[in-house]
Amino acid sequence: MSPAYCVVGGGISGLVAAYRLRVAAGPQASITLFDPADRLGGALRTERIGGQAMDVGAEAFVARRPEVPALLAELGLANRQVGTTGARPLIYSQDRLHPLPAGTLQGIPAQPSALAGLVDDATIARMHDERNRPLRWRHGADPSVAELVGDRFGDQVVTRSVEPLLAGVYAGSAATIGVRSAVPTLAGALDRGARSLTDAVREAVPPPVTGSVFGAVDGGYRVLVDELIRRARAQWVQVGIERVARAAAGWDLVDDEGTRHHADAMVLAVPAPVLARMVADVAPRTAAAARRIPVASTALVALALPGGTPLPQQSGVLVASGEQRLRAKAVTLTSRKWGPRGNVELVRLSFGRFGDNLTRGAGDEDLLGWAAEDLATLFGVHTEPVDCHVQRWIDAMPQYGPGHGELIGELRSGLPPTIAVAGAFLDGIGVPACVAAATRAAASLVTARVAR
Ligand SMILES: Cc1cc2nc3c(=O)[nH]c(=O)nc-3n(C[C@H](O)[C@H](O)[C@H](O)COP(=O)(O)OP(=O)(O)OC[C@H]3O[C@@H](n4cnc5c(N)ncnc54)[C@H](O)[C@@H]3O)c2cc1C
Repeated sequence: MSPAYCVVGGGISGLVAAYRLRVAAGPQASITLFDPADRLGGALRTERIGGQAMDVGAEAFVARRPEVPALLAELGLANRQVGTTGARPLIYSQDRLHPLPAGTLQGIPAQPSALAGLVDDATIARMHDERNRPLRWRHGADPSVAELVGDRFGDQVVTRSVEPLLAGVYAGSAATIGVRSAVPTLAGALDRGARSLTDAVREAVPPPVTGSVFGAVDGGYRVLVDELIRRARAQWVQVGIERVARAAAGWDLVDDEGTRHHADAMVLAVPAPVLARMVADVAPRTAAAARRIPVASTALVALALPGGTPLPQQSGVLVASGEQRLRAKAVTLTSRKWGPRGNVELVRLSFGRFGDNLTRGAGDEDLLGWAAEDLATLFGVHTEPVDCHVQRWIDAMPQYGPGHGELIGELRSGLPPTIAVAGAFLDGIGVPACVAAATRAAASLVTARVAR
């Protein structure tokens, strides 16, 4: 008889784990999924705004990574994968809009000229001179991005070119994100003996891609979520799990009403702070490591503006850190990025960076007001939206600090073989990395010897 599998957390990580367990264990296997939310999908959430399907959490995936295209194909959804229109984003810095520098690695330039106009002449001169300054790099080192790039190229490169990109991905700052997580290929080039940051970036920068860097799902991520739910055929129990306890055989999952649910083996696919509480009794080393992963909150305002609103032909705006005239950290001009939909202009503004507490006390009316002000500042647009939606993501963005890889090694090594973890705090924050980690988690349970 197949073991009783449980999956805790029904975001993309939990859903992929449940689906992989179903494929491996067969139609008769017992798979129970716990999630207290009003619907499954976690940070993959699609709403109808202005009559159009619009993602109000993740909206895209890195298309050159194989995981999401392969999953879509496996689920018969390959024809739902769409690419961007080719419109490029801008950077807002020093009260002006600038083109996004080309040929950079997460904003770290391979050529100083790429940042002309964005940083001052002294910074350009410092970058030109960088190869003449001796670089001390210890194999395996993992300084923060700000420490490395600030020291070699100067602070303006950090705040105006690197942080706008890191804020988009992690809602984080270069001071709290490690080089090895944010730009692993750069760390690799330095480990291999690059003699300067300039040389390392030149070695690591990927060749220009033909086609779209990002993919999305036509109809929104809801399409992928629904198909995973259908294929996983897990029993969804709509409660939160408080903790895992040892049982005579296997485990008990204790829910927030005190009810115990039996599991022989489980995937825990919840955010790191929740995991820390959940496994405190049964895997204290894992809990201690999970507790050390900081998280950021962010809020998203999605707007449908009337068709014909005069927005630029760009995919959006990434905001440099420290800008006083804007509150948003990023604006996506959704209809320009992915192509027109209906007779509306869809726009997303996201607010809140790690440690700034900007969104904590803000009500929906505040956020909508900030969105209106920022659109006026950026584009001179004062148009009333025809529809809007405010979505909050509390503690949803794990921060990949220096030494994150070692921390995750410690976290995983503290787990008994019949408990596996999946989630955005492990091997990468993006959807492709979540799919990969969930696949690994499910595979480890299938090969674990489950005592029954
Ligand atoms: C605003 C935003 C924009 C993003 N944009 C992109 C993007 O464009 N591209 C990209 O690749 N990535 C993006 N990301 C990152 C990516 O979406 C997430 O990292 C990923 O979806 C996380 O999936 P997850 O299943 O690990 O966690 P989550 O989606 O957070 O799911 C965790 C689930 O656990 C449940 N849960 C919590 N506590 C309990 C409990 N006690 N018991 C049971 N269940 C519980 C929650 O209800 C939730 O459903 C974005 C993230 C956010 C927040």
